Amino acid sequence: MSTETLPSYLEGAWRRGGGAGTPVADAVTGATVTHVSSEGLDLAAAVAYARGTGLAALGELTFHQRAEALKAAALALRERRQELYDLSARAGATRSDAQVDVDGGIGTAVVYARLGREGLPDHTLIAEDDPVPLGKAGTFAGRHVLTTPRGISLQINAFNFPVWGLLEKLAPALLAGLPTIVKPATPTAYIAAHAVRIVEESGTLPPGTLQLVSGSIPGLFDLLGGQDHIGFTGSAATAARLRSDPAVTRRSARFNAEADSLNCSVLGPDALPGQPEFELFADALVTEMTVKAGQKCTAIRRAFVPANLLGAVSEAVEARLAKVVVGAPGADGVTMGALVGLAQRADVRAAVARLASAGTIVYGDPHQVEVAGADGERGAFLSPLLLRVDDVARPEPHEVEAFGPVSTLLPYHGVTDLLDLVARGEGSLAGSVVSRDGDFVREVVLGAAAHHGRILVLDRDSAAESTGHGTPMPQLVHGGPGRAGGGEEEGGLRAVHAHLRRTAVQGGPAVLDAITAGADE
Ligand code: NAP
Repeated sequence: MSTETLPSYLEGAWRRGGGAGTPVADAVTGATVTHVSSEGLDLAAAVAYARGTGLAALGELTFHQRAEALKAAALALRERRQELYDLSARAGATRSDAQVDVDGGIGTAVVYARLGREGLPDHTLIAEDDPVPLGKAGTFAGRHVLTTPRGISLQINAFNFPVWGLLEKLAPALLAGLPTIVKPATPTAYIAAHAVRIVEESGTLPPGTLQLVSGSIPGLFDLLGGQDHIGFTGSAATAARLRSDPAVTRRSARFNAEADSLNCSVLGPDALPGQPEFELFADALVTEMTVKAGQKCTAIRRAFVPANLLGAVSEAVEARLAKVVVGAPGADGVTMGALVGLAQRADVRAAVARLASAGTIVYGDPHQVEVAGADGERGAFLSPLLLRVDDVARPEPHEVEAFGPVSTLLPYHGVTDLLDLVARGEGSLAGSVVSRDGDFVREVVLGAAAHHGRILVLDRDSAAESTGHGTPMPQLVHGGPGRAGGGEEEGGLRAVHAHLRRTAVQGGPAVLDAITAGADE
């Protein structure tokens, strides 16, 4: 890749922003990968192109035809996924990390293509439910229809999933007939841009369906309003800033936020050392700490353990962490790559210092790690770090998200105490309960459900097929209340519905039938 400015894909052409741009460094070597700038690009023209060309082209396709286009785009990406793996390595991702992002994204798009074909009508509108009679004589009724808004989908993504983030938002928007403008996060924008390039070169999507802004988007929110959908993933602080924009507060653009989250995993009191559930808990915790070097919004940050098992769990996790080999993606034996950049490492170290002020670091040194195949100071490498906080009343473990290979062990005494502690995360994307005690599991799931978008129950019987704590599934809701952003993505066709406009149509039954013919879901 050349180090000149990363282009944006706007109005059907690749265009470079002006100025020096923001340099993006290779996470492993520190070398400059590219510069990111949107200076001077005509974003108003891009929005107009989406609303004109993109909306019209998608409007000519039925849900089934859009599903076909989506599938073709996903297959084009699959064909060239090696290119995306190679670029992901420059962002610190091992092959398996890259697969989580790249194959996870492609798989999500493929699932959506199937859901669109099988669950939506071969039509451009959806007639929901059955007509509701509204008069005694049967001459007047009502029915809800879902139609495509006259707007766009703006997606703003976090750095950690440049491909999955792009595809999990593109899929429902595309099915709904909304053209997309993607604004990837600067540190990994070159990966998202390459994914867009592959899709563009495949010619699988109608013109105007997908545009990309590499860099900031000044003034773009001023162009958005009630017909538009904004899908945001990133930090709670940025979500708060964007959701207070007049585009949202005055003009009612839809705003869906997926923000950060202090996800928990709970070990049941039945899961004593030697029980499969004890091992599953320790394995899952280490997986969540090390996959993508812990840069996952769903990673386990708070590991709740019965107080009497804290020492044993700590030992089991430490023993597993001792086997982790940190280093350059692809280097011999490496099992955990780098953080996305040195600034991110500095952020994580600062967060770990805050967490450590409430307890102790029981594994790892935030300032020292043996690195295989790379220079540990030039690259953004960090040891996995396990903390233990015995004083669970301290705010830090429930408030500080260290967005790296970091997790904290916390003791609990009984279910009531546990549920109080879980709730102190103030809303999470994912939680898990590792136990085979049905009563305990039920109490925890029902007690914690209101604070979670998704809860995984793990035991010896389901482990072999389990998709794991940290993996959002396209069929299931991804999102969480409160601090996690209050949004909802995926969840099968729910995400498509969320991009459409629901209108109650009232009239005579024959009129309603004529309007909705062939559009039954
Ligand atoms: P971030 O700094 O909040 O940035 C997120 C996105 O917002 C980036 O694309 C960023 O662009 C953009 N942005 C920032 N300010 C903006 C503005 N004024 N107008 C328009 N866009 C703006 O978050 P991040 O560091 O990339 O991601 C890490 C965070 O995301 C973590 O806290 C993590 O928990 C969270 N996350 C959540 C999920 C989820 O599904 N809930 C998934 C992944 C990550 P620039 O990069 O160009 O500034």
